[in-house]
Amino acid sequence: MHKQKPYLDNFPNENGYFGKFGGAYIPPELQKPFKEIEEAYQKLSKDFEFLSELKKIRKYYQGRPTPVYFAKNLSNIVGGNIYLKREDLNHTGSHKLNHCMAEALLAKYLGKKKLIAETGAGQHGVALATAAAYFGLECEIHMGEVDIKKEHPNVVKMKILGAKVVPVTKGLKTLKEAVDSAFESYLNDTKNSIFAIGSVVGPHPFPKMVRDFQSVIGFEAKEQFLEMTGKLPDMVTACVGGGSNAMGIFSAFIEDSVELYAVEPAGKGQNLGEHSASLTYGEEGIMHGFNSIMLKDERGEAAPVHSIASGIDYPSVGPEHAYLNSIGRTKIGLCTDEEAVDAFYTLSRLEGIIPALESSHALAFAMKYAKENKGKSILVSLSGRGDKDIDFIIENFPRD
Ligand SMILES: *Cc1c(COP(=O)(O)O)cnc(C)c1O
Repeated sequence: MHKQKPYLDNFPNENGYFGKFGGAYIPPELQKPFKEIEEAYQKLSKDFEFLSELKKIRKYYQGRPTPVYFAKNLSNIVGGNIYLKREDLNHTGSHKLNHCMAEALLAKYLGKKKLIAETGAGQHGVALATAAAYFGLECEIHMGEVDIKKEHPNVVKMKILGAKVVPVTKGLKTLKEAVDSAFESYLNDTKNSIFAIGSVVGPHPFPKMVRDFQSVIGFEAKEQFLEMTGKLPDMVTACVGGGSNAMGIFSAFIEDSVELYAVEPAGKGQNLGEHSASLTYGEEGIMHGFNSIMLKDERGEAAPVHSIASGIDYPSVGPEHAYLNSIGRTKIGLCTDEEAVDAFYTLSRLEGIIPALESSHALAFAMKYAKENKGKSILVSLSGRGDKDIDFIIENFPRD
């Protein structure tokens, strides 16, 4: 990994806190296995062999560095200079493999045999199944029955890659139940397996670990941007679900005078259930083992959420985002479903790049920002490609 600046060394603190956010709120039986992961990561993050193996994997298997591309046609139309960090060109088509390969490498070093995780739309499941295949590890993905029906292509991919997909039939049969089911399975065999969390969320050390693994996006992009323009960008932006691609690209710029915008899905309205803009409308609360800003229903539990992009409809947000926002270092951008679809078509037709609907949120915000801040240079995390979204778009939002 790259030489880290003081902020990244100092946050989170040794108990996993970014200010008051983060921590590890877990049942006693999980404390030992999470401690084991934390200690292993502390050692391996400074281990030459581990780091050089990760570097090789990134270069020869994932195809890194991914390019930074100046979107000339788009920039001409909106009046700013928009640059795209092309995580859509990372193997499997999104940034998710950056942390999945590293988590699997960590599992291998710990002598684990099996990776366990939950998945909502299936993107994390596919990336983890890919990493498991590469390292010869077993892979068990827990997925709600409702999501299994909805996300058929990803289920097929996971099976082809050799993963075991466990259908979850409890409750609403979606992501929340899948998390519970995956944790249960992990508890039964913490000796041989590892729980591989899919974003900068969950109990310590995952928010730190996943951020560090994803920081390759930011450090690469910074160097590439400097080489292309001789300067730093005025603004860097990314969409935020749990917040891993955003923390990945922000990491390299936190101590620079560069504006950082985390873009939340404003969905189709401001009522609970119509959006998943946790930082914008949420309040402090503990969910999935960490303290952050979350959307609560009237009983104080995780509220139902919506976004047209299923990778960012999460009722909480990574604790580091809650912290950076609370001290004013990052700002929030909003993007509705409609604006995301518009950006999806715009990039496809102006640049020949079909973006993921998640990434389209960051792009839409960048376009709005460019129109209001003429001549500024903007670096966008294009977190993934949109192949997975094409059937949905053509059926629901056809355009001539
Ligand atoms: C999963 C996913 C996201 C959201 O995850 P973060 O942890 O918020 O980055 C964004 N874009 C794509 C393409 C994804 O697959």
